[in-house]
Amino acid sequence: MVQVSDKQFDVFLSEEEILREVRSLAWRISEDYRDKEVLFIVLLNGAFMFAADLLKEIQVPAAVSFVKLSSYHGGTESSGKVQELIGLNETLEGKNVVIIEDIVDTGTTMDNLIPIVYEKLPASVKICTLLYKPEAFKGNFLPDYVGFSISNAFVVGYGLDYNGLGRNLKAIYQLKK
Ligand code: 5GP
Ligand code: MG
Repeated sequence: MVQVSDKQFDVFLSEEEILREVRSLAWRISEDYRDKEVLFIVLLNGAFMFAADLLKEIQVPAAVSFVKLSSYHGGTESSGKVQELIGLNETLEGKNVVIIEDIVDTGTTMDNLIPIVYEKLPASVKICTLLYKPEAFKGNFLPDYVGFSISNAFVVGYGLDYNGLGRNLKAIYQLKK
């Protein structure tokens, strides 16, 4: 059990379980992209710890870019919530892109991100996520590489926060019922 901010959480995935799965994901990706160069796009903040462990095990030539999706209210659009990709310095043209995400929940983040990425004319785009909540998903882009499919309960740790805290935890914890 761990206390994060004002809530209590139980261990859900241990550090060992996580690292075993992360290694297996890295091997699958390395197989699929054998002899190809990959540009990994890491979605901050949540994916930072997953990305660090995953990338250490990647066996193909890897470039890494760290980005954030930020929403702003654009122009005269009344409800115009527009997503902007910040921090991407590389051109994506002709590149094999793998997006690294901590968790795919409703899929809204990917629905916002993927069209922006395709606009930059990459050769291919795949999504790698450590966690996936199939019951919550209603998006258009299914993740290609999934570490763990999990139930809808809120999780924290290993990069994921609750109230800005808990990202440094080695394991993943689920909200206590
Ligand atoms: P989506 O856009 O797919 O609905 O959600 C993606 C984002 O929602 C994730 O990157 C993460 O920031 C947040 N999120 C979704 N579920 C959880 C959860 O169980 N715990 C935490 N800490 N964040 C979550
Ligand atoms: Mg995220």
